[in-house]
Amino acid sequence: MGARKPGLQVSRSALGTVPWAGQRSSPGMPAVLAQLRPADDIFPMQSARGYDWVSTVLQGGPKLVKLARHAAPTLRIDSVASLYPETIRSLGAHGIIWDVDGTLMPRHGSAVAPHLAAAFARLRGDPMLRHVILSNCDAKRFADLATIFTDIPILRVYARAGGIIVRRRLGESDSCTPGTDVSRLDSVRALRKPNVLMVRAALDELRCTSPSQAVMIGDQYLTDVAPANMLGVATVKVDTIEPGSFPMPVRALQLAERLLVRMVASHR
Ligand SMILES: [Mg+2]
Repeated sequence: MGARKPGLQVSRSALGTVPWAGQRSSPGMPAVLAQLRPADDIFPMQSARGYDWVSTVLQGGPKLVKLARHAAPTLRIDSVASLYPETIRSLGAHGIIWDVDGTLMPRHGSAVAPHLAAAFARLRGDPMLRHVILSNCDAKRFADLATIFTDIPILRVYARAGGIIVRRRLGESDSCTPGTDVSRLDSVRALRKPNVLMVRAALDELRCTSPSQAVMIGDQYLTDVAPANMLGVATVKVDTIEPGSFPMPVRALQLAERLLVRMVASHR
């Protein structure tokens, strides 16, 4: 698919079915989290069982078909190079939730891919847009990302009884939900996408008062697009950058993901 022009009008009909309830509040709970119903969690308060692709399978496997039904992106483009601030605004959004590996650079790259640099810079340079990164990375990569994106918050989310812990890196700053010792979190396994709780944490970081104010940009249907769609967050699906940079098991999963999404879509 070719590059879109700025100001492209995009249908939001592909958005998911999880309602924006606005019914619940709890002392100390971030605004966006408080306004979503816990019953809508597709992966409620569970810990990931590992850091790698096995964890993604274990976490997402039982819910694959449900995820696949929500995997139609609002906008499908070849790459971030086609995006303009006007495109984001046409989606009704002022916040961008970024996937990194495969979306902005090859897996475990050290900088935004050169062919995306101009587009990323113009999106970053728009004063009306806010940004946050959600990546299925381990603790080391989490720290590395903070040195690559020194002025964009990067979130990791951990489950705990009765709630979640949100860890936030912004350059040298490393903080987390009050009451938690951030120095101990490197030894704790974080939640992994697909997970609506991670998207909710991103919405709160972006200061969105509604999911419709944000857009998720990623290269994977089930891990990036589906959970965002389920909350009513607009989604942009891009082609994976350098698929060969990912381990073979991950590439196999990505192929299976595309086949499942296609199969579910054909049976509608
Ligand atoms: Mg990715």
